[in-house]
Amino acid sequence: MIRFEDLLEKVRAYSPDADVELLRRAYVFSAFEHRGQVRHSGEPYLVHPLAVADFLADMKLDAVAIAAGLLHDVVEDTLTTIERIRELFGPEVAHVVEGVTKISAIPLSPASSEERQAENFRKMLLAMVDDIRVILVKLADRLHNMRTLGHLPEERRVKIAQETRDIYAPIANRLGMSKVKNELEELSFRYLEPQAYETLRTQVDAKRRATEGLIGDLKKTITATLAQAQVPVIEIDGRIKRLWSIHQKLERQKIELGQVYDFIAIRIITESVKDCYATLGIIHQTWSPVPGRIKDFIAMPRPNGYQSLHTSVISEHGMPFEVQIRTMEQHRRAEEGIAAHWKYKEGRAGDGRDDRYFQWMRQLLESQQEVHDPQEFIQNLKVELYPEEVYIFTPKGLVKALPRGATPVDFAYAIHTDLGHQCVGARVNGKMVPLRTRLKNGDIIEIVRQAGHRPSRDWLNFVATSRARSKIKHLIHAEEKTRAVELGRKLFEKEARRYDLNPKTILDGEAFAKALADFAVGRSDDLFAAIGYGKVHPKQVLVKLVPTDTLREKAPEGAVASVVRRVLGSGDEKIKVKGFDDLMVFRARCCSPIRGEKIVGYVTRGKGVSVHSATCPNVVNLLYDPERRIEVEWDKTEAVGRYTVKLTMEVKDRKGLLAAVSAKIADVNTNIKNMEARTGDSVNARIDVTIEISDLKHLEKVIKSLRGVEGVIGVERAGRAG
Ligand code: MN
Repeated sequence: MIRFEDLLEKVRAYSPDADVELLRRAYVFSAFEHRGQVRHSGEPYLVHPLAVADFLADMKLDAVAIAAGLLHDVVEDTLTTIERIRELFGPEVAHVVEGVTKISAIPLSPASSEERQAENFRKMLLAMVDDIRVILVKLADRLHNMRTLGHLPEERRVKIAQETRDIYAPIANRLGMSKVKNELEELSFRYLEPQAYETLRTQVDAKRRATEGLIGDLKKTITATLAQAQVPVIEIDGRIKRLWSIHQKLERQKIELGQVYDFIAIRIITESVKDCYATLGIIHQTWSPVPGRIKDFIAMPRPNGYQSLHTSVISEHGMPFEVQIRTMEQHRRAEEGIAAHWKYKEGRAGDGRDDRYFQWMRQLLESQQEVHDPQEFIQNLKVELYPEEVYIFTPKGLVKALPRGATPVDFAYAIHTDLGHQCVGARVNGKMVPLRTRLKNGDIIEIVRQAGHRPSRDWLNFVATSRARSKIKHLIHAEEKTRAVELGRKLFEKEARRYDLNPKTILDGEAFAKALADFAVGRSDDLFAAIGYGKVHPKQVLVKLVPTDTLREKAPEGAVASVVRRVLGSGDEKIKVKGFDDLMVFRARCCSPIRGEKIVGYVTRGKGVSVHSATCPNVVNLLYDPERRIEVEWDKTEAVGRYTVKLTMEVKDRKGLLAAVSAKIADVNTNIKNMEARTGDSVNARIDVTIEISDLKHLEKVIKSLRGVEGVIGVERAGRAG
C-alpha cells in the first residue's frame, strides 16, 4: 500500500512549490469520508484513491489533479456533495472531481441503447475538452481498477474490461499515452480472453530465456557498431513484444507464434533527430532490412503525435526483429502523450487547450454537432478513435494521413472543402480510378476538379472520414433548404391567390408575425421551408392570417381546373394530372422523365404523384401496383423547363478526354451539373455526367454530339432499359 508521505515526497521531487497543504487536507478528508469502506480485495477503500493519486504523480501532474485523484470517488461513494468539495478545496478541484463523477455515471456498455450511448460519448468528450485533467484522473482510476480487477465477480470483470478495451484504451491512444494504453489493452486481453491469454503467455515464457540472451547479444552489437560510427546513444532497450500485440498479429495474419516478425523489439534513444537517421542507416548496414517495413513517423507523425523511425531487420541467426529509433523528447511524448505536455503548463490550468489533442477533440465535437443519427455518430467516433491510417501523397509530395478505407473524396476534403465539392475524378499512381476506390499506403493521388461541381448524395455511401461526410451533408442540406423555401413560397402564393388574396399584403401584416410564432419558427423562410418540405399545408397558414369566414375560394378559371405544382428538387418541369386538382407531382428519381417523353404517374403513400417514364424499368417490370397508376401529361401551356438527366459514357481512357467531353456539352448550350470519371475494365473508362436539358429533342442532340467525340465508344441515358 502506498503511504501518503511517500506520495508527498514524489510530488515535492518534481514540484517543490506544490501546495502540500491542499494535498494533506484532501487526503485527510478522503480518509475520513471513505472510513469503514472496503474494496473487493478486502483492503481499506483508501488504497484506491491513494493509488490513483500516486499514478497522477508519476505523470508529474499538478496539485489540483492529485488532490482530485484523492477525492475522485468521494462524491460518488459517500454522502459528500460537490458543493462541499468546492467549499473545502476550491472550484478547480471541485470541477475535476465533478467531471470524473459524471463520466463514471455514464453507462458506456453496449447494452445501453445506441442513442443513449452516443449521447454519453458526447458528454464524455465535452467533459474532456473542458479540462483535460478530468480524463487523466479517469484514466488513472481505470488503470488501478484494471490492475485489481481479479477481485471482482466475473460478470463485472468482463463488463469493465470490455469498456476499457472499447473506450478507455483508444482514448489513451488518441491522447498519445501509449504506456497507459498498452497496460489497459494488456489487462483487457487477460480478462476478456483468459484462455487465449494464458496459452500465449505460456508459449512466450517458454521462449523467454533464449530470447533474452538474443536481446542481450543484439544490444551489444548495436552499442559497439554505433560507438564505432561515433553516433551517441542515450539508451538501448530490448524486450519481447506485448502479448496483446502478438495476439492481434497472430489473429490478423492467421499464423503461428514462430512466424511472428517483430516478436522482439529493440528501442534506441538518440540525442538528436539527425542521429536517429544515422542510426537507421547503421542498422541497415549491419542487418538486412525486411522490405516494406521501414516507417518514418518522424517525418510523418501519427495523428496522435507519435514520432519514431521503425524498421524490421533479420539477425544473423535468421531471426527478424523490430527496431524503433527516436530522440528522448520523442520517446517521452510517445509514452506519456498529453500528460507530458500538461506538466510543462503546470500552474496554468486550462492552457493546454491549443494543443493538438484538444484540437482533435474539439474538431470531432464540432463536426459531429450536426449529426443527429446516433448510429452515425458512433460510427464516426470509431473512425476517430481507432486511427489506423494510410499515408497518401500529392504529386508535389505533400502527405496526408487518412483513416484506412479513405477514398479520393476523403482526400479531397482533407485538403480543402472546395476541392472536395468540386472533385469529379481522381488519378491514383497515374491511372484514372472510381471515386469510391479505397486508397492504399503510399498512393500518389491527383484530384480532377471542375468549378461549380456539386457533391452527389451517393458519396455518403462510401466516404470514410467524418469531415467529408459532414461537409457533403451540410452542402446537400443547405441546397435542399433553399429549394424548399422557394417551393414553399410559391405554394403559399398560389394558395393565397386561390382564395383571391394578395400574398404580399397578407405577408406584411402583424398576423404573419404571430403565425410565425404559432409554427415555432423564427423567420418567414423557415415557415416557407416547412411548407416546401410538406410539413405544413399552406392553408394552415392562411387561416391564421385572415378570418376564416372571409376565406372564399375563387371560381375556377376556364374549363380545366387542374392545378400544376412545381416540384421540389427537380427544376421547373410542368406535369398535369388529368382530372385531379391540388396534387403534388414529382419526377421519379429512378428515371427522371423529361418533357416530350411518354410518362405515367403513380400515387405514392403520402408524397403525392410520382411520374415515371413509360420506359422506366420499374414501370416496365411492373414493380408498381397498377391500382395506383394515374394518367398524367406534360402541361402544354407552360414555358419550357429544365430537366436534369444522367448520361453514362463508355470511353477510351485517354488524357484530355474529360475536357473534350465537357467542351462538347458546352457547345450545345448545355449545363453540366455533375461529372465523374471511373475506370471500367483495363482499357476503357466510364464517365457519368449529369446535365440540364430542356426537352427530349435537346437531349437527343447532346447524345448525338457526344458520340462524335474521339474516344467515346458509347453514350447512354443512365437507369434506362435498352
Ligand atoms: Mn475510483
